[in-house]
Amino acid sequence: MKIETKAIHAGRQIDPDTGAVTPPIHLSSTFERQPDGSYKTGYEYSRDGNPNRKALEQCLSALENGQQAAAFSSGSAATMTIFQALSPGDHIIAPDDLYFGIRQMLRDTFIPWGLEVTFVDMTDASQTRRAVRPNTTLILAETPSNPQLKVTDIRKTSEIAQDAGAYFVCDNTMATPILQRPLDLGADFVVHSTTKYLGGHDDVTGGIVVAKRRDELFQKIRKLQKIGGAIPSPFDCWLILRGIHTLPYRMRAHSVNAMKIAEFLNSHPAIEKVLYPGLSNDAGHITASEQMTLFGGMMSVQVNGNRENAMSVAANVRIFTRATSFGGPHSLIEHRASIEEPGTKTPDNLLRLAIGLENVDDLIDDLAQALVQIE
Ligand code: PLP
Repeated sequence: MKIETKAIHAGRQIDPDTGAVTPPIHLSSTFERQPDGSYKTGYEYSRDGNPNRKALEQCLSALENGQQAAAFSSGSAATMTIFQALSPGDHIIAPDDLYFGIRQMLRDTFIPWGLEVTFVDMTDASQTRRAVRPNTTLILAETPSNPQLKVTDIRKTSEIAQDAGAYFVCDNTMATPILQRPLDLGADFVVHSTTKYLGGHDDVTGGIVVAKRRDELFQKIRKLQKIGGAIPSPFDCWLILRGIHTLPYRMRAHSVNAMKIAEFLNSHPAIEKVLYPGLSNDAGHITASEQMTLFGGMMSVQVNGNRENAMSVAANVRIFTRATSFGGPHSLIEHRASIEEPGTKTPDNLLRLAIGLENVDDLIDDLAQALVQIE
């Protein structure tokens, strides 16, 4: 099956009781036990398993070409569970430009808990290789990265992980399985914030881990999912699965809009730099062209001048909304350094743009009038 067909059919079935084409939402937290003590359908209690969650997990496994998936209540909960499945004394290599919430999680929770972490510039595979230690158990990549859209070579990094005997986890939130499939390129796990493009409508929070094989680490992750219960509600699973139906078409439209906007901004006199792997002058363009089919809807720009100039552009947009997150139909703009933490490496003149599904000419006009203020 091609990916558009999988996005609509994987994990779905006509409801056997009613013939409903759209799946029902199973709110029941508990399931009947048979007189002999068994469970007819395999469901016992909804923290352990629920039909809507199972459908979502099956769909994402199919889209990423994995064998198993575990859905969580947020992308952060999904990644946190991977770390929890490791042991104190294990060493992780992570990218220096990483969603700041995960960076904080590593620094403030898991380093005190006993994990060792080295942050490297993963765009340079030799830095990743040099960071390997005898106790390296996991390499985490995020490509393209948030917010600087840095591109990590998935194949090369997976070879380094293999040589080190470590797991390789790739955060595929920005690209989605429509534009990039890390498991096919050598990764062992993919992690997503389903809050973003998979949900696709800015109305649900979720996350998922997809495993290439049913190995020991995945079994631990599944166990932690059931023990900890950081699970999405049945309605959240239903919403995310509904969002996935249109994912292939939305990703193409986000990418086409973003490419046009990147080209417009790339030649704008008030812009110092556009960070978008679709541009031929972008540092990650060659690698991105090898591992992505299109370049996605996210970009960052560094405006000429300082923080005040960036804030002024964000203050003057009319169609873009000043808000965090991405992946929905609305275009969003965000001064990133001020939402991250003091001391962040994100430049102060950087604005992150989540390009939505509006008409691209309206978006370009909006940016043009906002940029006039600082020309
Ligand atoms: N991974 C990436 C690349 C993200 O951008 C985010 C959030 O912005 C997360 C993970 C965390 O996801 P969530 O906000 O659903 O916890």
